[in-house]
Amino acid sequence: MSCYNTSGGFLSMSIEQVLDNTRAAVAAGIGGIKIKVGQPDAKIDLTRVAAVREALGDGFPLMVDANQQWNRSTAIRMGRALEDLDLVWIEEPLDAYDAEGHAALARELATPIATGEMLTSPAEHEELLRHGAVDFLQPDAPRVGGITPFLKIMARGQQAGVRLAPHFAMEIHLHLAAAYEIDPWVEHFDWLQPLFPERLEIADGRMLVPARPGLGFSLSEQARAWTTDAVRIDADGTATTVG
Ligand SMILES: [Mg+2]
Repeated sequence: MSCYNTSGGFLSMSIEQVLDNTRAAVAAGIGGIKIKVGQPDAKIDLTRVAAVREALGDGFPLMVDANQQWNRSTAIRMGRALEDLDLVWIEEPLDAYDAEGHAALARELATPIATGEMLTSPAEHEELLRHGAVDFLQPDAPRVGGITPFLKIMARGQQAGVRLAPHFAMEIHLHLAAAYEIDPWVEHFDWLQPLFPERLEIADGRMLVPARPGLGFSLSEQARAWTTDAVRIDADGTATTVG
């Protein structure tokens, strides 16, 4: 599965740090780099994205994520200014619920539009698809209520012909994205790693689906130490606190 990371490009990091993180991630086998945009001074955004593009070279997948920082006029201006940098997508340029605004951007810009991480149900994702608001749909399984609603969103995304780039929680999303028909992207984040002893492998820009049973993870000793209560649920639905 094509995989990219975001963890090296936060707004608070200096451009030197971002470039160091970018080089380290590429050396470790990542397939794409996403950096945050939405600085109060838009010129700083443009300089930072251009510097990362320069470091990566032409053709290496690069994305930006505005985390809903822009209004409609800023988003179109920034989208046009970024057009020549050959971005894979511009993420969350607008308020997460502004389906019409995203649709207008998607029509206006050659750069693909991505959004959906904040939405909490298949119906909300359907609203994006109905408006033609996205090129990349970005559902988050924990946020939409788990794997079953996520599968409904995937089915509708495939029907609509959009691409998929699930948000965060690679441990779940790797498996779901692997079942998507139109070449998806998985977001690499190591933040949940302390919970599991197992590690996901990355090679040549791709994350490999583990062959272990289920999602392929067990709870680490650290996760057990953090757990204050464990509840066993029996087949008849009886819940018992076990520690
Ligand atoms: Mg995001």
